[in-house]
Amino acid sequence: MTTVAEIYQYLNEIAPFHTAMDFDNVGLLVGDPGAAVDSVLVSLDITTPVIEQACELGAQLIISHHPVIFAPLKRLRPKDIPAQLIEHRLAAVCAHTNLDLATCGVNTQLAAALSLQDCKPVKTYRDTGLAEALFGTLPQALSPEDFAQYVKERLHCGGVKYTRGDRPVRTVGVSCGAGSGLLFDAAACGVDAFVTGESKHHEHLAACETGITMVDAGHFNTEDVVVEPLIRMLQTQFPQVAFCKSGQDDPVCYLV
Ligand SMILES: [Zn+2]
Repeated sequence: MTTVAEIYQYLNEIAPFHTAMDFDNVGLLVGDPGAAVDSVLVSLDITTPVIEQACELGAQLIISHHPVIFAPLKRLRPKDIPAQLIEHRLAAVCAHTNLDLATCGVNTQLAAALSLQDCKPVKTYRDTGLAEALFGTLPQALSPEDFAQYVKERLHCGGVKYTRGDRPVRTVGVSCGAGSGLLFDAAACGVDAFVTGESKHHEHLAACETGITMVDAGHFNTEDVVVEPLIRMLQTQFPQVAFCKSGQDDPVCYLV
C-alpha cells in the first residue's frame, strides 16, 4: 500500500519543500498523510473540473503546482476548492516555487521544451544555489519573428505576444510563470531573447531598449510543461500507482 506521505516524501527529495520561496505555501495542504493511494491526478491547478476528473478516476490524491490554499483562509464554503477536496476525501500536495527552483523543475522543463542546450542559472535564489531562471543556446539561430513562432509551437500556445529584438536569437533566457522581473538579470547574462509567462508594459519597453526579443507565452503554457515529466518520474518511483495528467487547459483564449 502506498500512502500520501510516501508520495510527499518522494516529491520532497526531488523538489525539497523547505526550498520554496518565503511568500509561498507548499506541501500537503489538504488531507491525511496516512491515506492509501492507488490513483493520482497531476495538474497545474486544482479547479472544480479537475476535482470532478479526480472523482471519475477514483483518485485519492491531486498533485498540483499552484497552491490550493495560498492567501489565509477567512471562511470555508462548500464550493470552495479546499472544501470540495475534503468532501470528496481527496488529498492535495502542492509543489510550487520549490518545483520552479528544482533541478528537474519547471524552468528546466521549459528550457528542454525549447531545446536549449548548456543551460546555466540566470540568477540563484538567495544562498540556495538553486536557479530562479535559466539561459541556454538554441540549436540554430532564428530571427525574432521565427523565434516567437517557434516558442508558440513548442509550448502549444494559443498565441504569444513579443517584442522584436535587434538581432538573431541564439541565446535564450527562460523564467516560467510570473517571472518577467528577471528580464533584467537575463539581459545581464547577454541573452538575445527572454521567454516568460506574464509581462508588463515597462518590461516590453525595456526589452526594446536592450534589443532583446521578449516572448510572453502565457502563464499556463510556460508551466504546464512540467506536468508530463513529473508524471514520468512519479510513475517510475511508484509503478503500483496510476498517475494521470489532468485535462486542465489554458484558461486564457486568444483571438488570432
Ligand atoms: Zn505559476
